[in-house]
Amino acid sequence: MMRKTALALAAAMLLLTSCGRGAADTGLPDARTDGAGSLESGAAGGTTAPDPEAGEGEPSGNESGDYPEAESGQDESGESGDPAAPGERDADGSDSATGPAAPLYRMNGAYRFVPIDDEAPKNVVLLTFDDGPKDREVLERMLDALDSHNAKAVFFVSGYRAVKQPELLELIHERGHTIGNHSWDHIDLKALEEAAVRDQIGRVQRLVEETIGTAPKLFRPPYGSGGAYVKGIAEEFGLLFTTWSNGSLDWDSSAKNKPDVVIGNVLDQLHPGANILMHELPWTADALDELLGKIEEEGYGFLDPALIEIPVPDAADGGA
Ligand SMILES: [Zn+2]
Repeated sequence: MMRKTALALAAAMLLLTSCGRGAADTGLPDARTDGAGSLESGAAGGTTAPDPEAGEGEPSGNESGDYPEAESGQDESGESGDPAAPGERDADGSDSATGPAAPLYRMNGAYRFVPIDDEAPKNVVLLTFDDGPKDREVLERMLDALDSHNAKAVFFVSGYRAVKQPELLELIHERGHTIGNHSWDHIDLKALEEAAVRDQIGRVQRLVEETIGTAPKLFRPPYGSGGAYVKGIAEEFGLLFTTWSNGSLDWDSSAKNKPDVVIGNVLDQLHPGANILMHELPWTADALDELLGKIEEEGYGFLDPALIEIPVPDAADGGA
């Protein structure tokens, strides 16, 4: 067990290495993105914990109407496979444990991540991208930037999008990242009845499980909305309910086509265990390589979502 922890720690330290690779072209056409339409507006500014109930200033959440070209089947770009298997974690036949890596981090009440014991580094951040999968080209640029920095991220997907391009879920999974549940319709869940909330969460669980073989373990409600009510239901699915502690504001018009603004917003709010909210947007993709480099320069590593402790549902498995 000690050895396993040490291995995981070594892996975590590895992530602290940086590799600068100049970000290339910006200047992507944005005409087809829905920009702010979809996105959490509740991102609490500053370094303080967000108030999940506050500030979802964009009730017009459901952007399903302006979904861009869902069916661009441009698959030939040969996803270079490379599952970037996190072999470090469950490396060589550790005799004691089977299954997933032992968790090293726990989310606290402010939606930040703290080491479970003192062995893991405190200065890590969790990278998250909401509201996809939308656009293969944008997504692939993000995945490439993440690879350049040996970073793993969470992609909180909307069901209504994912069902149109399940192959993008597979891509995210194959590249070693974590898929989180962002509800089916991207609507304000606290306005719904219980059965409807269950449906919004459960349908995404099933879709993801059918597509990649495992259901999400992390849940982020649209707009960070829902509080204890939605949290309780999410927990029935064995999900860890989270919002964020560092909002990039990349959804906001002030950041549109401005990667530097996204970078500045994230760096301004950097803190140990930061839970960084970004979105699948072209200018965020443009920003990512440079942003990750700067986060590393500040002395932070990237928290592998697989190392996050997930609460165990009480009446777990078996039939149901
Ligand atoms: Zn969202």
